[in-house]
Amino acid sequence: MRLLFAKMNECKNGIKRGTTILTAKPFAYVLNSKHKTSRCDYCLKSGKVSKCSACHCVYYCNRFCQQDAWSIHKTECAKLKKVSPKVVPDMARLMTRIIIKLNQGKSEEMGYYSDTSFRKFKDLMSHYSDIKKDEKRIEHFICLCKILNELFEDTPMPSNVELMAIYGRICINSFNIFDLDMNSIGIGIYLGPSIIDHSCVPNAVATFEGPNIIIRTIEYLPCLDWSQIRISYIDVLKTTKDRRAELQSSYYFWCNCKRCEQPELTTTAAMCPNKSCMYPCSSDTDSCEKCKTRFPDKFKETFDEISDFTAYHLQSMKDMAYLDVSKVCLEKQEGVLHPLNIQHVQTLQSAFDSAISLQHWEEVESYAKRLINGYLTYYGEVHPLTGILYLMMGKIQLYLEKPKQALEALKRAKSILLITHGEKHTLVRENLKPLLHQAIMEESNVKI
Ligand SMILES: [Zn+2]
Ligand SMILES: [Zn+2]
Ligand SMILES: [Zn+2]
Ligand SMILES: [Zn+2]
Repeated sequence: MRLLFAKMNECKNGIKRGTTILTAKPFAYVLNSKHKTSRCDYCLKSGKVSKCSACHCVYYCNRFCQQDAWSIHKTECAKLKKVSPKVVPDMARLMTRIIIKLNQGKSEEMGYYSDTSFRKFKDLMSHYSDIKKDEKRIEHFICLCKILNELFEDTPMPSNVELMAIYGRICINSFNIFDLDMNSIGIGIYLGPSIIDHSCVPNAVATFEGPNIIIRTIEYLPCLDWSQIRISYIDVLKTTKDRRAELQSSYYFWCNCKRCEQPELTTTAAMCPNKSCMYPCSSDTDSCEKCKTRFPDKFKETFDEISDFTAYHLQSMKDMAYLDVSKVCLEKQEGVLHPLNIQHVQTLQSAFDSAISLQHWEEVESYAKRLINGYLTYYGEVHPLTGILYLMMGKIQLYLEKPKQALEALKRAKSILLITHGEKHTLVRENLKPLLHQAIMEESNVKI
C-alpha cells in the first residue's frame, strides 16, 4: 500500500480509472444480525457456520476465524451472554465493539489514506451539535444507552458526552458493508476512507472483500488529491429533492454537487403523447416542447394521480417488494410516465427484485432489460450496480439458454467490473470469469 502511494504521488501521467487508491481494514464492524446464522461474524463469508459455545450469539466458519475475532469477542462474549436471550441491536453491538477497542487503548490506531496522512478514531466528525438537536437520533441514542448500560454494568464505560460523540461518529462515518451482489450485510467504521466526501456523481466507488474496503477511481484523475475524491453516501436512484433531503437528515449537509445543481428534466418527466417522440416532458405544460404534440385534457390530473399511487405503493414496499403490486403500478404508468422517470425506474426495480425472489427468471430478464437504461442514466455507465445488473442479466440469459445475448451482457459486465472491482476481486474471479467462459463455450456450440 505504501509503495502504491509513492508511485501515485508523482502523478506524471495522472491516475487512470479503475485504480485502487485505498484499501483498509475496519476499525470496528458488525455483521447484520439478519445474517447471523448464515454468515461468519468475522470474515462475513456465507456458508456453514457454528456458534460460539459460550454466548450462542455469534457464528464463525471455523476455528481460525473464531481465534482472529477473539481479541474483541472475548470481552463482548460475556456481555452478550449476560443479557441473552435478549437480542442486542446491530448499532449497540457496533458501539460495544468500539468501546472495547477504545478501552484496549486502540484510540491511537492510525488509518492511513496517503503516505504520511492518517486519521484516528477521534479525528472522525461527530456532528455533536447537530445530533443533539436531532430528535429522532436522540431518541435512538437514549435507547442504545439503556442497552449499553446493561452490557457494561461491571466494566468502565465512556461518559455520556463521549458516548454521544461515538454515536455521532458512527452515524456520520459508517459504511454499509456489501456482499458481492451489493446487498448490505453489515456496517463498519473505516478510519482512512472516512476522509472521503460525498457527491451524487462520484469519481470513486467503495467495494468490499469480506469486511475490508477497497476504494477505486471510476474517472480519470490528473492527480491523487484527497480533497477532490468523492464517493456517494446514499443510493442515487432518487430525485434531487429526495437526495438532498436524505443527505441533510442523515449527514447534515446540503448537497451542492454538479448533479444537484443541474436542472432536472427526466426524473419527474411525463411521456410525450406522440409515441415516436421520447422527449422528457414536464407534466405542467400543455404540449411537448420538442414535437409540439398537445397533451390530452386533464393529463396533469392523470399524471399526478398515477404518481401519487406509485409513491404510496413504493413506500409500502420499502422492506419487501411484491410482483403483483409492482405490475399494477407499471401498467398504470404506461404511456404516462417517461421511461426514465425515477418513479418508473424504482417500480421496475421492485418488480425485478420481487421476480428474483419468486424465481420467475423470464420476467427477471425482461425487467433487467428495461431497468438497465435507468441504471445507465442514474448510476452511470461505470458503476458497481450497473456492472452487477449486466452480470445478473447474463447469468439469467445463460440459464434461459440465450448464450448470444448472455455473452453480450457479460462482456458489458466485464468492461465495467474491471474498472469498479478490478481483475483480482472475488466477484470478477469467481463469478464473472466462469460465466463468461461458459457463455463463450455455449455460444460457439450454437454456431456449430
Ligand atoms: Zn469466517
Ligand atoms: Zn461468544
Ligand atoms: Zn448531490
Ligand atoms: Zn414530443
